[in-house]
Amino acid sequence: MLLTNAKIWVTDRIIEGNLLLDDESGVIQSIFKSSSSTNEQNEFKINLRKKLIIPSLIDIHCHLRDFNESHKETYQTGAKAAAAGGYTHVFDMPNKQPAVISNKQIQGINKTIKNLNSVKITPFLLLCSETEELLKYKYPFLKAYLGLTTGNYLTTELDIQNFIQNSSSFLSVHCEDNELIERNKIKMKDELKDHCEIRGAETELTSLSTLLRIKNELKSNTTLHVAHLTLTRSIDMLKNKNISFEVTPHHLLLNRDDYTRLGVWGKMNPPLRNKNEQGMLLKAFLEGRIPIIATDHAPHTKEEKVNSLRAGVPGLETTLPLLLDKLKPLDIQKIQLIIDVLATNPRKIMKSSSRGIIAEGEVADLTIIDLNMIKEVKGENLYTKCNWSPWEGKKLKGWPVMTIREGRIIHNDLF
Ligand SMILES: [Zn+2]
Repeated sequence: MLLTNAKIWVTDRIIEGNLLLDDESGVIQSIFKSSSSTNEQNEFKINLRKKLIIPSLIDIHCHLRDFNESHKETYQTGAKAAAAGGYTHVFDMPNKQPAVISNKQIQGINKTIKNLNSVKITPFLLLCSETEELLKYKYPFLKAYLGLTTGNYLTTELDIQNFIQNSSSFLSVHCEDNELIERNKIKMKDELKDHCEIRGAETELTSLSTLLRIKNELKSNTTLHVAHLTLTRSIDMLKNKNISFEVTPHHLLLNRDDYTRLGVWGKMNPPLRNKNEQGMLLKAFLEGRIPIIATDHAPHTKEEKVNSLRAGVPGLETTLPLLLDKLKPLDIQKIQLIIDVLATNPRKIMKSSSRGIIAEGEVADLTIIDLNMIKEVKGENLYTKCNWSPWEGKKLKGWPVMTIREGRIIHNDLF
């Protein structure tokens, strides 16, 4: 396959030229300026008309549901949404129905996703007292829930203590202090109106202190990571602590004023913060102090949102356009920032075999972007099964139009 007339992100700059992929091996065969040599004659050509090719995106935090929640999302619909959003690899969270706590369930997931021919999906294992012992310390990706969210399994301090002493795996921690949440729930009765208060900033900061205390007390080879941080105070707490973290696009771009407008459509855990805190988070992002943006794509049906006030919003298809639109007009530094948080740093932390580099001999994991495309977010047009978005009606400039994984097109809006 030959991608012609493209703008190509090479290391830290954009060159104009052509990109030849080896269809069999799925690697980049060559990048060249003029299209003249004869050995291209038999190639399948796509004229990109100056669209931008960047390394494909990796989402280290999404919920693809399936099994007993296949009415919300299935691996098939979730994979389509991910590919449409420019992703080639996503990490699927384990607080499913049923929760992922055994090897049998991991095998069940792997069997379900085997023939998708789309994005790569890596399942996480849930860390709790019921997690299968043989698997617990060896499985490479685990998730701990210090606060209850969707699902009923809670991770105790003891679970984390045992884990970090016995494992060198990756542990992502959902930091919201459960006791504080429960106390607030009794104090404030309205589940919807008081949601942002019930799970206020203190619940994150307290839970983060707990995690830091556990880590300080013990020697560990675990790679510790904090999911969906919402406060710059949290970022400051993690400084020089050898713990990585991610931020979601909704915490970066929405605040409690939006919650008043959105109601249940803006309800997620952790909740939206006040305008000042959101502004500081956005500033931290623009200054390059946030290493990873993860979607926390968490679909529920419209009925479940309205009738049961479920927490969680979809995000796989809107994250890249939201960042492209927010940072416009785009210069090289801003494009670099977007690639860092969505492609380069997620790969590094997850030790991905695909390096996310566009160069000869590298795996062709690519996202092609139309920087000039202006499109309105419409839930009904999304691939996610839930078919709604907290960004409904928002016009965004800059959209992914094609996603290539290992040299093969897995999403195509171009033709
Ligand atoms: Zn989540």
